[in-house]
Amino acid sequence: MSDGPLTGIRGILFDLDGTLLDHRRAADAGITAWLADRFPGHPRLGEAAAIWAGLEGPYLAMWQAGRCSVQEQRRLRLAGLCAELAVPVPDDVDAAYADFAGRYRRHWTAFPDVARAVAGLGGYRLGVLTNGSQRMQEAKVRAIGLAGRVGPVLTGETLGGHFKPSPACYTGAAAALGLRPREVLLVGDDVDKDVTGPAVTGMRSVWLDRPGATPPEHRDAATGFPRITSLAELADLLDGAA
Ligand SMILES: [Mg+2]
Repeated sequence: MSDGPLTGIRGILFDLDGTLLDHRRAADAGITAWLADRFPGHPRLGEAAAIWAGLEGPYLAMWQAGRCSVQEQRRLRLAGLCAELAVPVPDDVDAAYADFAGRYRRHWTAFPDVARAVAGLGGYRLGVLTNGSQRMQEAKVRAIGLAGRVGPVLTGETLGGHFKPSPACYTGAAAALGLRPREVLLVGDDVDKDVTGPAVTGMRSVWLDRPGATPPEHRDAATGFPRITSLAELADLLDGAA
């Protein structure tokens, strides 16, 4: 928990997946339904969500590093899942991914603490800073009813190809809010990308450690940073002077 209010904060950037939107729940449900429909009775159905989650980071990183397109990383990820589950890769991988994506979308929901927390931050410049694709992340913000309420949706695609935890990503996001990094607080669930990453630019951060969501090995790196377990605790960290 925090030792006291953070002073001089005029803007707040929220991470999206795992912070505002329950991405894991939606992705788990989406891929499980996808596999169950295509391969009924698959013996590893119960493992599909964990396998899919494990493939996410490495393939997204390939796209963020410019080594493939966003669509290519989707194809590769789906092929990786099929290989792991020993099922044939669909002939039309793009259509198969679109089938998953539709199921994923249907499960997009905001965490229950989001609406109230955002409503209480009227004096601050708000924004979303996320590593996903611009189009999909904007669709998510609309789907959970936050369009126009949380400011611009900033991604690596709008920040010159700089993704979290690149320092240029944070300085660019602060500039997009018309602020200096020191005047901005980043709130997010990923220790590297949302907590320790922005510190080198002077941007402040709060680790949103939703219960059970963070692997224990990631916790040490967040020592010394403010930590909350719900967005309901965010207002108590701020001095309200924005
Ligand atoms: Mg996140």
